[in-house]
Amino acid sequence: MQRLAKRRVAITGAASGIGRATAIELARQGSRVAILDIDGDACASVAEEIARFGGTCLAQVTDIADPEAVERVVAAVAQEFGGIDVLFNNAGIMPEGTALTTDLATWQRVMDVNLTAMYLLARAVLPHMGEGGGSIINTASVQALLGHPNRLAYVTSKHGVVGLTRGLAADHAAAKIRVNAICPGTIDTPMLHRELEKVPTGEREALLQSYRELHPLGVIGQPEDVAHAVVFLASDESRFITGAVLAIDGGYTSLIGHA
Ligand code: NAD
Repeated sequence: MQRLAKRRVAITGAASGIGRATAIELARQGSRVAILDIDGDACASVAEEIARFGGTCLAQVTDIADPEAVERVVAAVAQEFGGIDVLFNNAGIMPEGTALTTDLATWQRVMDVNLTAMYLLARAVLPHMGEGGGSIINTASVQALLGHPNRLAYVTSKHGVVGLTRGLAADHAAAKIRVNAICPGTIDTPMLHRELEKVPTGEREALLQSYRELHPLGVIGQPEDVAHAVVFLASDESRFITGAVLAIDGGYTSLIGHA
């Protein structure tokens, strides 16, 4: 049985990793999905994969940090689908740096892509959610709940995502629009592999093992682990959940304060 038959969904960062797996799972569950991503080739390949199993996918190559592009693309998606029921605000970037080594342009770009774009997308999508309400899911991170060395802009932006989520949830609950944040731990995606590639080949397995050990379940997550939680938050099964911050982290943040 499909859990999201004919649900109309927009997903950012859908060409890779968590967004890609979620777009595919939502389409398998009967949703019509619009995939918004800056990477045109990867976007096309996700659209082809969804079309192969008979799903409906509308690929929109977009820089979500561009306010005019967001307005244009959301209007096009809403027109094509006749409205939007679910927004998965997921795209993100993770440059390294401390306050001393992050230049202002990098700081601003991280805020624009990881945080301001979620506001832009929400602002553009909300008027297209109908009387039945809707669901917005924002991808934060365990680094929205904890600090991390050498990732100041990322950690700051992800803490902001939690604030944005709670504020939006409070503002739009009366319109039956639910807004929740997810906080993945380490997930096996191209973003993780770019991290691993920064260390010499011979040291990568040890680094990966150190990541596994941060998660009490002893493994890192797969993109599908996040996709299944998003399907739940997009569906009516979560109809009494809003303003929540859901860790999907193998127990990582349950160890706060543990030596
Ligand atoms: P990824 O790099 O595999 O995918 C990110 C996607 O976002 C890419 O397709 C990229 O093209 C797209 N994107 C980047 N900038 C964009 C822009 N300006 N406009 C449109 N699209 C843009 O990363 P992922 O691991 O799948 O991460 C997805 C989200 O999950 C991010 O918000 C990330 O911070 C978060 N997250 C990831 C992990 C992890 O361990 N992988 C952990 C916690 C949170």
